[in-house]
Amino acid sequence: MSLIRVALDVPVERLFDYRCDDPAARIGARVMVPFGRRRLIGIIVARPEHSDVPPAGLKHALRVLDEQPLLGKADLKLLGFAADYYVHPLGSAIMATVPAALRQVRSREQNPAGYALTPAGAAIDALALPPRARAQQGLLSLLRGSPVIPHAVIAAESAAIRKALKTFIAQGWVRAATPVAPVQPDSHRAAAGPALNGEQAAAVDAIVSSLGHYQPLLLLGITGSGKTEVYLHAIAAALARNTQALLLVPEIALTPQLQSLVVTRFPGTTVATLHSGLADGERAAHWEAARSGKARIILGTRLAVFAPLPAPGLIIVDEEHDSSFKQGEGFRYSARDLAVVRARQAGVPVVLGSATPALETYRNAIDGRYRLLRLSQRIHALPPQIDCIDLQQDHPADGLSGRLIAAIRTRIECGEQSMVFINRRGYAPVLVCGSCGWTSDCRRCSAKLVLHLRERRLRCHHCGHDGAVPVACPDCGNADLAPVGQGTQRIEAALAQHFPKARILRIDRDTTRRRDAWPDMRDRIREGAVDILVGTQILAKGHDFPQLNLVGIVNADSMLYSSDFRAPERLYALLTQVAGRAGRSNIRGQVLVQTRFPGHPLYAALRNQDFDAFARELLAERRQAGFPPYMHQAVLRAESRSVDLALQFLENAARLARGISPSVSVYDPIPAGMMRKAGRERAHLLLQSPSRRELRAFLGAWHPQLAKATSSAARWALDVDPAEL
Ligand code: ADP
Ligand code: ZN
Ligand code: ZN
Repeated sequence: MSLIRVALDVPVERLFDYRCDDPAARIGARVMVPFGRRRLIGIIVARPEHSDVPPAGLKHALRVLDEQPLLGKADLKLLGFAADYYVHPLGSAIMATVPAALRQVRSREQNPAGYALTPAGAAIDALALPPRARAQQGLLSLLRGSPVIPHAVIAAESAAIRKALKTFIAQGWVRAATPVAPVQPDSHRAAAGPALNGEQAAAVDAIVSSLGHYQPLLLLGITGSGKTEVYLHAIAAALARNTQALLLVPEIALTPQLQSLVVTRFPGTTVATLHSGLADGERAAHWEAARSGKARIILGTRLAVFAPLPAPGLIIVDEEHDSSFKQGEGFRYSARDLAVVRARQAGVPVVLGSATPALETYRNAIDGRYRLLRLSQRIHALPPQIDCIDLQQDHPADGLSGRLIAAIRTRIECGEQSMVFINRRGYAPVLVCGSCGWTSDCRRCSAKLVLHLRERRLRCHHCGHDGAVPVACPDCGNADLAPVGQGTQRIEAALAQHFPKARILRIDRDTTRRRDAWPDMRDRIREGAVDILVGTQILAKGHDFPQLNLVGIVNADSMLYSSDFRAPERLYALLTQVAGRAGRSNIRGQVLVQTRFPGHPLYAALRNQDFDAFARELLAERRQAGFPPYMHQAVLRAESRSVDLALQFLENAARLARGISPSVSVYDPIPAGMMRKAGRERAHLLLQSPSRRELRAFLGAWHPQLAKATSSAARWALDVDPAEL
């Protein structure tokens, strides 16, 4: 009796054993199995010799769905590492990365691509078939004529033949199979791009000379220094060696322009794109193209780090500091970190690119573990001039200082564009009653409801609550409710007051929700049909607007003081990206940062555009305070109806944790920074160790105890290397 061990997408933290005698049951292939009263599709992860389940309890797998394993050994190895490192059940980790279309049992069974004889079918004696069953005879000779008969051929046959096929399948004589199509070899011709400058050429050389072995490289290049061009050249070299290149980009950066840039530069090459915006079928098709090796370039967001690759040759992570590489729910992995692991496992180089790398990455580079490549010149223009506007001196009535207004006026007079950046959408972040102090709080979150004046709604940006604006204070009846603070809508309105004739365009999640909204807006900006852009983070990354020469940053301070120790690092990265939008053509760009703390070291570093100085100072602070990257963290998050229940669960978990390892510090459980979210109350427990290995060993010992101690009152999750607390 043969056994298979199967990963299934069920909320039980284990793998499941089945009997299966099908020789196609190879590790990495999909299999359909009975599960309770359902049928599920899983992935075979092992062929064990024996099972802990008594033989009588072992069910038979229904059928194997893939001839060629869907996941190769190396792909499974990465998943195995990830499941172990992030302390996540292997079955759930695997199933989270396989496209939905490949793991769903259709209620109306889909036709397989083709059919082939099983060994039992091949052994049938044609004479043993019932003499009058002519259709069965015909089918048998059809199947014997070719290794795989495409479904289309069978579908064109008579009803009797199709009926015979059903009989053969039921007998176990025929199985589903994929016809082998002759693959046209791609021509890996790369269209010529611009001639590289010296620094770019040196970076490309360094990457190319690393092809064929593991080598992490940090490409530290200021905004507009031409990092993308370096990637494209390195990809061309990987393709020339007949390997695949995986390019990971942040969610917000995977634009149609980037896709078409890659496609036009590699005209004969199949490019697979993988991101969450794809329809299920599309995603499965692109995934399959990666798996079969047909796609030589795989361009995707974080989940693409798991794309099955038969011939990986180069991995690139663009904007490697971006927080979207960390999955915040469920299987909480870091795609950036796994890209490095994958490169090591595969023996290939990995390039991490950024103007403002994560301190973890930067430290690896200055300590010599990663090779550091620099691009220090802007391709088309000088770096922008960055200045602070002191809000203590220049009081804005409506969020816009006099100096910023004057600068925008000058740009309009010169026919140039300006951009006003604010990291908050809506009109005002809160509505307040002047007589009793009532504020628009979300009932389900520890957060304020944001006023969206145009739509006359109060919305929670955390749980999605969406209600009408009250006509009077719900507490005291006062009709005079005042919006406090600024959001994109309010800044837009204020700009319209100052510049009644200017063409103002607001760009935030509210105005770009429609699918083609953003491309339209981009064209208008490029054509010069816009004088002032008002927008959020959406505007920060990767767009070249040649006429945009002034960037005003309205409320940077709101991100300066935060309980999160990573806040300054993030703010610096964001401001650098926003500032990088200014002056991408021949006029020197200007950036004005409104702040009440112009002397703050962060703004000083930003003015000098000296990332190294800033990073070294932050690293010194982190070392002293015992924070990452000098410490390794894990956090146990719990949520419940009440914060007390969540804390109680964590107290218990902390008791189990203490005493497991002397080199892991177990802190006291505390309520989360945003305690209530969508009606659930949250708390967490921080664990820290100077040794990653010790922390992993600790988690390995602690996790099974946690799983046993689980109470129904609290839901919990472990987050290894948390991006935020
Ligand atoms: P980054 O990603 O480093 O901010 P980009 O890759 O967007 O910079 O490059 C900025 C611009 O410079 C792009 O329009 C790109 O096409 C162009 N570019 C890059 N390298 C060169 C080069 N060697 N010569 C001319 N233009 C270049
Ligand atoms: Zn009131
Ligand atoms: Zn809410």
